[in-house]
Amino acid sequence: MSGPVDVGNNSSRRFAIVGLAILGVLALVAAMAPLLAPYDPSDRVGRPFASPSAEHLLGTNDVGHDLLSELIYGSRISLLVGIVAALAATIIGAAVGLLAGYLRGWVDTALMRFVDVVLALPVLPLTIVIGVFAGPGLITQILVISAVIWAGVARELRAQVLSLREHDHIQALRAMGAGASHVLPRHVLPAVAPLLVPQFVLATKAAILLEASLSFLGLGDATAKSWGAMLSIAHARSAFLTDAWLWWVIPPGLAIAITVMAFALLGYAFEERARPSLRDRVPPRSAVAVAAEPPNLDAPPLAIDKLTVEYRSDRSVVTAVDEVSLTVGPGELVGLVGASGSGKSTVAAAAIGLVPPAATLSGGAVSVQGRDLATLSGDELRALRGDRIALVPQEAMSALNPVRTVRAQLVEAIRAHRAVPRAAARARADELFELVGLDPQRAGKYPHQFSGGMCQRVVIAMALANDPAVVIADEPTSGLDPLIEVEVLELLNELRRRLHLALLVVSHDLNVVERIADRIAVMQDGRIVEVGPAARVLAEPAHPYTRGLVNAVPRLTTAEASR
Ligand code: ADP
Ligand code: MG
Repeated sequence: MSGPVDVGNNSSRRFAIVGLAILGVLALVAAMAPLLAPYDPSDRVGRPFASPSAEHLLGTNDVGHDLLSELIYGSRISLLVGIVAALAATIIGAAVGLLAGYLRGWVDTALMRFVDVVLALPVLPLTIVIGVFAGPGLITQILVISAVIWAGVARELRAQVLSLREHDHIQALRAMGAGASHVLPRHVLPAVAPLLVPQFVLATKAAILLEASLSFLGLGDATAKSWGAMLSIAHARSAFLTDAWLWWVIPPGLAIAITVMAFALLGYAFEERARPSLRDRVPPRSAVAVAAEPPNLDAPPLAIDKLTVEYRSDRSVVTAVDEVSLTVGPGELVGLVGASGSGKSTVAAAAIGLVPPAATLSGGAVSVQGRDLATLSGDELRALRGDRIALVPQEAMSALNPVRTVRAQLVEAIRAHRAVPRAAARARADELFELVGLDPQRAGKYPHQFSGGMCQRVVIAMALANDPAVVIADEPTSGLDPLIEVEVLELLNELRRRLHLALLVVSHDLNVVERIADRIAVMQDGRIVEVGPAARVLAEPAHPYTRGLVNAVPRLTTAEASR
């Protein structure tokens, strides 16, 4: 594990070290101010406007306060206001960014409009207006400063969440029926957490600068003087007209500059480190339980009726799926084949009600056990996914969390929809392990300790965790070598027989489905051009495209072809 100071490359490591060293000294000075300061900064300990001397190293101000003591105590106020305001801004900004990026839709639009407005306003005039309106004081300063800097954090976080949202593991969670209240705190927040550190550090930098500006304008606390407040008084007492600016203006000015620089160095170093880790990080997966109404067992497990899906952009409309109809009965295995780009994955995604953000369902319907997905609420749909209908993801490895044992992930999948005790879920996980032909003894291992074929078995077990009626497998054997591929296909075939599953297997490869499918549907350019019993489609393909596919498949024996 890497600590917070372990930054990516050499230059960012140097930045971090310098920044931390300066801030360490500052923190010490602030903490030990009573010991370090020669006088109480609010006592009149010398004559007014004294030049530096052995008694007053930085001289005194207009009323005889010791300037060195003010400088030392000032660090407390500047750091306090900066850190508290930055903390508040980071929390607010992160919450807004997470919600907007994850929920999207009108929530996103409304929140981001507001963020844009805040970002578009000129910060300093805005701060001054609010500051004057609210009156001077530390609390006012903190409120005003956090009110103007949270928006930047929100925008940054939203951008990260938007990209994270489309990652395989988050998609897998949503496919399992996980809701925002589960995914956000447990999966999205931990993944973007590394980014919050630089956001906070950079917000502190901005806050300290704003505090100085506000105090300089007289909006600070007159009794607890920050560096900005020292400058303000120096200015008001015309320090520039005499030599006094040398010891009255330069030290607090330098203190502000050095502090801001230290936070900036540290912030950039952290940011550099956080970005790659954000990309690589894979949070754990799980879902949430919502009570579902009883299914209609007479209806087909999966019925797709004249489904039409379009991808719309500013310039074009691509009809990826064009009036596709397909049903899968109980215990039936239907193979959906077609060239890459023919729309198979879009059908598979629509079947679990999870089309990509760019897609529009422009016609038709998908029903699972008689329930039309379009009529379900978001919660009902989530309750259905992973419970009645499950997805076997394409890339098993990327759908599994590398830092959790496979048993933990299975347990999570089970408990997502069933409020069973952990021990019962563990027993069920072992059962599922055996069901897919894995040794339960190995359940305590991590995904990287498994081969590709074994990982595929694990994700199949996860799909089966809650006894779904329908399982959709989109290219379930891509990336596996041919022997393992056959094993996984045989497993799927055996499972649907034993569990009476409705299984839709999607593949670009006729070879894959012909060995197990009862029926085969052939897609070309978004349409199903042919559908029928597997043996018939293979022996007497009716459509020229199917004939091409069948002839392109190398066969070992004719017996193999007629299976
Ligand atoms: P398949 O799984 O058969 O390869 P897809 O369903 O992935 O096909 O894609 C079908 C069509 O939809 C393709 O023409 C593809 O270019 C288009 N398409 C897929 N995903 C998107 C997307 N996110 N945005 C725009 N077009 C897409
Ligand atoms: Mg595909």
